[in-house]
Amino acid sequence: MSALSEINEEIGRCQLCEIAKYRTKAVPGEGPGDAEIMFVGEAPGWHEDQQGRPFVGPAGQYLEQLLSSIGLRREQVYIANVIKCRPAANRDPLPAEILNCRQWLERQIEIIHPKMIVTLGRYSMAMFFPGKSISKIHGTTQKRDGIIYYAMYHPAAALHQQSLRQAIEADMLKIPALLVEAKTMPETESQPQQLSMFGD
Ligand code: URA
Repeated sequence: MSALSEINEEIGRCQLCEIAKYRTKAVPGEGPGDAEIMFVGEAPGWHEDQQGRPFVGPAGQYLEQLLSSIGLRREQVYIANVIKCRPAANRDPLPAEILNCRQWLERQIEIIHPKMIVTLGRYSMAMFFPGKSISKIHGTTQKRDGIIYYAMYHPAAALHQQSLRQAIEADMLKIPALLVEAKTMPETESQPQQLSMFGD
């Protein structure tokens, strides 16, 4: 069994949070184990909870559209979330849920070892760009330990607000050049160090 499949199974058994009791399916994430880009959203919604797959509802359809604007299909990227179970009534994730779940994302990043991590929305941004505001830093990068981190609005928010929609579409178009740049950045040997940025 691959390391990612093992994590998926562990997530499926995880009962650390109350919301685990109410899930239909956990949503670990999906995509190639050697993806160059990883997209990190917030939390599963109703559709994701039903299917056990990330971004399969309306926000997911829009994400697929955005990916196709840069010539990518969802099968070519890894898509995950900050938390792996659906919060009741789609409320925001709680700090304790984010804390309990972060081990999974850390391990996914360590295994996939992407060149670029794209955060979708505030909660994902907060893990990698602590203390920043999304309206200020969307469309900007931070480079650490051989990875480019790139902040974008959440597709669900952008779907319903024209100004955010223009911003997310423009931000998406910057990804191909950033990926080229990421591929020319020197590799670091100490991947686990990169994970210390998670609010530690
Ligand atoms: N919104 C998210 O943040 N993640 C999903 O998987 C679906 C909608």
